[in-house]
Amino acid sequence: MSQLLITGGAGFIGSHTCLVLLEAGHRLVVLDDFSNSSPEALRRVQELAGPLAGPRLQLIEGDLRSPADLAQAFAAAPIEAVVHFAGLKAVGESVADPLRYWDVNLSGSRALLAAMVQVGCRTIVFSSSATLYGSPESVPIAETARVAPVNPYGYSKAAVEQMLADVCASEPGWRVARLRYFNPVGAHPSGRIGEDPGGIPNNLFPFLSQVAVGRRPSLQVFGSDWPTADGTGVRDYIHVMDLADGHRAALEVLMAEPPQLLTLNLGSGRGQSVLEVVAAFERACGSPVPYDLVPRRPGDVAATVADPSLAERRLAWRTQRDLEAICRDGWAWQSANPQGYGPRGD
Ligand code: NAD
Ligand code: UDP
Repeated sequence: MSQLLITGGAGFIGSHTCLVLLEAGHRLVVLDDFSNSSPEALRRVQELAGPLAGPRLQLIEGDLRSPADLAQAFAAAPIEAVVHFAGLKAVGESVADPLRYWDVNLSGSRALLAAMVQVGCRTIVFSSSATLYGSPESVPIAETARVAPVNPYGYSKAAVEQMLADVCASEPGWRVARLRYFNPVGAHPSGRIGEDPGGIPNNLFPFLSQVAVGRRPSLQVFGSDWPTADGTGVRDYIHVMDLADGHRAALEVLMAEPPQLLTLNLGSGRGQSVLEVVAAFERACGSPVPYDLVPRRPGDVAATVADPSLAERRLAWRTQRDLEAICRDGWAWQSANPQGYGPRGD
């Protein structure tokens, strides 16, 4: 059992990972400012974890960029390792407001690393993204592929990856995992926690779920002329519970092995088209989901699929849940919580 700091632990991936880490026996301090999440998510994580594990989660409401808030989080308990989810993640928003993205994602991560140095904590798992591969030369994508982001969000992830490599090179003892997620989707099978984007969803899966539940009239399928089997975009969708388990595995490896810098793709290795996802979701919810084929979305790429073999070898981990499970669990969440966790005040 370890004492961990989870930044952004109330968010989509953070909440599911908190549950997995509580179930694995860890004690958690969560630092979140709820700028893109609800405290209700953590309340439900505690409820799912049960009366024994639930109380092992402690919440500090605060901002990653604030040295005082970070000091409070590190003072709450002697932290052995950090899992760093907190950040902003909307590509379009990052193009419109790049300084905010550099501030939260880069300055926030810098402040976190400075606080870690101060307390002598040298172990961190970082939420990176397949977005930093930009438009890949070929698929599946291995970790050795060129890092070539195409938007401010991707640049900010690449910059934090570099900052982590630089601190590793500056002194021995750092244990760092840079986890490059492909497309995280789905929800906990209980339907109690899931993805709850504020405003109009940018991503396929939450938009599709909201159409299925009647919150939106129809889905726009961006592009039907891509060089793929059915002409629609192909992505590697990973069930959020598999992703959460990947974090548990990465932490265990970091803490058990000598200090190192690990860079791993977390994906399933399977590519699925938009129309395949729509069809699977229709099977899960039991009714047709209206959609229109519209022109390509600017900045999109035809296909991104992970080569997950390095993560499989290094973490003894692989995805367990297929697209059917993703849609079944995603629908369990959306149908039981049509308005997500409820009004967020944003
Ligand atoms: P999310 O927005 O649901 O979670 C992020 C959490 O961080 C939220 O709870 C938010 O309130 C919190 N937060 C934001 N700014 C903060 C700040 N300044 N101080 C404290 N807390 C702050 O996003 P998510 O989908 O769970 O993603 C988690 C991480 O994974 C992010 O870093 C994201 O860039 C990365 N990632 C996500 C995806 C994806 O498709 N969801 C893909 C690749 C990488
Ligand atoms: N997509 C779509 N309609 C939407 C949102 C997304 O057709 O409303 C497509 C998008 O073009 C891509 C796939 O779904 O081919 C996944 O998009 P998402 O934004 O979820 O992830 P990303 O593009 O970041 O991989």
